[in-house]
Amino acid sequence: MSTTVGVHGSVGELFPPAVLRDALDPSGEGDDPAYKRALSDVRVVETADELAGCDALVTFAYDDSFLTSDLSWIHSIQAGVDRFPFEELERRGISLTNSTGIHGDAVGETVAGYMLEFARRLHRHRDREPRREWRYPDWDEAFTLSGESVCVVGLGTLGRGIAARADALGADVVGVRRTPTPVEHVRTVHTPDGIHDAVADARFVAVATPLTDRTRGLVGADELAAMREDAYLLNVSRGGVVDDAALLDALRDGGLAGAALDVFETEPLPEGSPFWDMENVIVTSHAAAANRDYYRRVAALVRENVRRLAAGEPLANRVL
Ligand code: NAD
Repeated sequence: MSTTVGVHGSVGELFPPAVLRDALDPSGEGDDPAYKRALSDVRVVETADELAGCDALVTFAYDDSFLTSDLSWIHSIQAGVDRFPFEELERRGISLTNSTGIHGDAVGETVAGYMLEFARRLHRHRDREPRREWRYPDWDEAFTLSGESVCVVGLGTLGRGIAARADALGADVVGVRRTPTPVEHVRTVHTPDGIHDAVADARFVAVATPLTDRTRGLVGADELAAMREDAYLLNVSRGGVVDDAALLDALRDGGLAGAALDVFETEPLPEGSPFWDMENVIVTSHAAAANRDYYRRVAALVRENVRRLAAGEPLANRVL
């Protein structure tokens, strides 16, 4: 079978749809002949009407029109697929694949950046630039990551990317994972019921799980209270995994030293959110994975699955 792939206009949230379409276009010289045979067409789809004739759709957003189309396969350009209605898709026999496995380096570097900013106080220097303020940090303010402890909650692609970089920077790394089998760069792996012990000694707690029924609210008031008062929470998972209201309370009460937050229960983060104004909070705009090669990595996943479909092989990164 050969597949007609639509590139949904919503991917424009992360990169221009046309660059992904071009990366999927098999007309280039030297392209794999099996892929050329497996793909009948690739086109950008902006409206529900334009879905007609597409067998597969590569998308950022979800829309109910996907359910009443000819689609048999949807690929999410994000790793998180919590926005998709699993039961409805299953009922209609629509497969869902995601883009996990491609962001370990980008998100790992973002989290390394957060830790370095806090330890080396780079965010405070940047804050003072508009005031042309030349100031040495307080004598006991700056520290080094070497010898500090980092707890990574969720040891999948992102978590391992974070752990490898924290280890390389000289930190002692522990982690939380459903199955407590060893993970490279992680000294001790705890199970989720041991999360309080896991976070108790950490200077940095990085959260990198998907949002599921079991992880919603995984980091709430009790977990934040179990953390050290000089600890930083780093959240690159999904809004809802961390209880934002409890986090605000902990930051206001001095229960934590600070936080770096890429994801929120409400996105975009509302203009009135107190997080914007806190000097010990770094806000990034759900951009921890941003990088100019994002579309190429998604294209590689989609190409592989187009080939697999034609060969009758199981889809890679299959969620449903
Ligand atoms: P992944 O599937 O490779 O890894 C997820 C890991 O979380 C798995 O190892 C899983 O076992 C673990 N996990 C699940 N439930 C857990 C629990 N209760 N306790 C501890 N661990 C648990 O996915 P990934 O690529 O690492 O991405 C993880 C999530 O991060 C995505 O689902 C997405 O929501 C989010 N994400 C955010 C960004 C961003 O830009 N901020 C980028 C990519 C992914």
